[in-house]
Parts: sequence; structure tokens; C-alpha cells
Amino acid sequence: MGKTTGFMEFSREMPSRRPVTERVNDWFEIYQDFPEEKLRAQGARCMDCGVPFCHSGCPVNNIIPDWNDLVYRGRWKEAVRQLHATNNFPEFTGRICPAPCEAACVLGINQPAVTIKNIEKTIVERGFAEGWIKPEPPKFRTGKKVAVVGSGPAGLAAAQQLCRAGHWVTVYEKADRIGGLLRYGIPQFKLEKRILDRRLEQMEGEGVKFVSKAHVGHSLPVSDLQEQFDAIVLAGGSEQPRDLKIPGRELKGIHFAMEYLPQQNKRCLGDTLDPAGDILANGKHVVIIGGGRYRCRLPGDCPPPKAGIGAPVRNHAHAAGGALTADSLAAVADAVAH
Ligand SMILES: Cc1cc2nc3c(=O)[nH]c(=O)nc-3n(C[C@H](O)[C@H](O)[C@H](O)COP(=O)(O)OP(=O)(O)OC[C@H]3O[C@@H](n4cnc5c(N)ncnc54)[C@H](O)[C@@H]3O)c2cc1C
Ligand code: SF4
Repeated sequence: MGKTTGFMEFSREMPSRRPVTERVNDWFEIYQDFPEEKLRAQGARCMDCGVPFCHSGCPVNNIIPDWNDLVYRGRWKEAVRQLHATNNFPEFTGRICPAPCEAACVLGINQPAVTIKNIEKTIVERGFAEGWIKPEPPKFRTGKKVAVVGSGPAGLAAAQQLCRAGHWVTVYEKADRIGGLLRYGIPQFKLEKRILDRRLEQMEGEGVKFVSKAHVGHSLPVSDLQEQFDAIVLAGGSEQPRDLKIPGRELKGIHFAMEYLPQQNKRCLGDTLDPAGDILANGKHVVIIGGGRYRCRLPGDCPPPKAGIGAPVRNHAHAAGGALTADSLAAVADAVAH
């Protein structure tokens, strides 16, 4: 714990967002830079708790108090190393993780929690800016070959670890680009795709091979992989949306989020799509059913005048696991009508 009284001296502070008038003209991330001195003060708020509940809140068990302390002391390079000890891709989690660590932070009992997620993102960005994050190829190769099926964060993390352990790793992805939901589910304003490409470059430098447009079990038979590889990792994610078997579901203009989002991410990446399949919301009112993480990816929260898909949004949110009742459907119908 760098500064014993830090949690009493400093209040929680986050970077400010770019003005909305600016943000509606582009797809870039919304947060502005945060001065180093301010970030170090945020690190000083960490109490280095005897039982750091942030650890158990974190799905990858990040050693959070240690890097909070290192940031407070300005020992950035060590912070970068400490962060990567438990997390292959802190630049993703530092941007898009819902931060259960902050919900678990002990300081949150009587003050706003430590800004763990922003500290995480800043450490890794500092690492890239300083050139500290480079390919780390293994010192020896085992001669074993591993195929990873699926290039989402699970497949990528497995591939990087296996490659660093000395195996030859090839990642197969059925989509036209590598990245899974990082590429096509999460929009640019949350995770600019250059951030993903930067990490893929590092992995290629370590010896990982990526093969896109390879649908294992379809265009690429499983038997081919079994012949060529010593082991196969299945990291195909989950592609089953939760449908609603209710009257009217068959009507036009009702889409799953993951029918819409890949299209928009492809447009942002400069692809030309078949207009026959376009899902566009310009000039329409949009009702979103579900208040989870899909919601803020849909038009309206991020009106993009350039692409012309912005739309007013009425959000009829239901807590996870909550039932969609006749009343709530009536409310949706009412929202559309008005
Ligand atoms: C719209 C949306 C927004 C989200 N936002 C967030 C967020 O902000 N923060 C957060 O923490 N989580 C978020 N999530 C959840 C998060 O994206 C997932 O938990 C995560 O991507 C799962 O990683 P994965 O590698 O298991 O699967 P995926 O990312 O789904 O990757 C699986 C990959 O495997 C490929 N594949 C499947 N079968 C085959 C096959 N037979 N051959 C070749 N390739 C195959 C698929 O094409 C896909 O690219 C979001 C999810 C969605 C849908
Ligand atoms: S729970 Fe909060 S205050 Fe305690 S060690 Fe973790 S980040 Fe620091």
C-alpha cells in the first residue's frame, strides 16, 4: 500500500468522455486521456486489503492491489509485468469487462470503489506506448502441434499460452476475420479494432498462425485436423441467441442483436455489404428487449450520422432471467406505436 491515507485524501475520478457533438461524428472510443498524476492518485486509493475482495471478484484473479501500488509509485514496467501474469489481454478487459472487481472492492462499502478497470487499461496502454509489450516466443519448441478452433478471446488466450509453452499453434476461424465477438460483437466505440490487431500482431510474432474462413466440421473436415495435430482446442463460443416464442415474433423488422452488430462492425471496417441483407434503423423507432450488454451497442446510444443508422431507442429492459410478460409486450407495442 503506497499511500496509507490515500483512500481518505483522494476521491474516485474517471477520465471525462469526449463531447457528444464530437462523438456522433466518429466511431472512436469515448474516453479522453487521463493525466498520469491523477491516475497515480487513483492507485493510491487502494487500501491493499488483508482480504482483497477485488481478487475474488475478478474472473481472471488479477493481482489488483499489487499493480495499484506499482502505479502509485510510478513503477510502470513492473505493473505491466504483474498485470500480464494473470491476464493475456488486459487491453480488452480494461475496456470491456463489466468490472466485477470494482463491485467487490472493499473501499466501495463506504466510498466509491477504486477505479480498477481504468488503472488496468492505462497500465497496458503504457506498456504498448513504451514498446515493452513485444512478441515473447518460447525459448524451445516441443515439436507438438495444436489446433485451436475459434478465435474469440478464449481461443486467443489458449493459443498464446500454448505457443509460449513451446507448441506450434494454428487458430482456425470460420469468419472472414480473426477475433470472435471482440471483432464482430463489440462495436468500435467500446473496442477499436486496431487494439485487437495490435495483439494479433504480437501473437503472430510469437509463432501463432491464423487461418480465417475455415469452418471446422464444414469447409475443413475434423479428420484433417486430427491427422495434422497432436491436440485440438475447441473454443467455438456460444452462438445460440435466446429466442422468444411469442405471437408476432415472425413479423418483419425483429432481429437478434448478433444479426445486426456484425454488419455494423463490417461497415466500420470498410466492407461493402449486400444491400439485400442490410439491417438499418435510420428513420425508425427502435425497441430493445433486454437491458444487458447488447443494449448499449445498438443504434441510438451510439447514433452514427455518417452511416445513417441512428434511431430513437425505447428500451424495455428485463433483468437477466426475468420473464417477458403480456404486460411488458403490450408496453413494447405501445412504445412502437408512439
Ligand atoms: C454483443 C455482445 C457484446 C458483448 N459485450 C461484452 C462486454 O462488453 N464485456 C464482456 O466482458 N463480455 C461481453 N460479451 C461477452 C463476450 O463477448 C463473450 O463472453 C466472449 O466473446 C466469449 O469468448 P469465446 O472465445 O468463448 O467465444 P467467441 O468470442 O464467440 O468466439 C468464438 C469463435 O469461434 C468461431 N467458431 C465457432 N465454431 C467454429 C467452427 N466450427 N470452426 C471455426 N470457427 C468457429 C466463431 O465464429 C467465433 O469467432 C458480449 C457478447 C456479445 C454477444
Ligand atoms: S478490494 Fe479495493 S481497496 Fe481492497 S485491495 Fe482490492 S482494489 Fe484495493
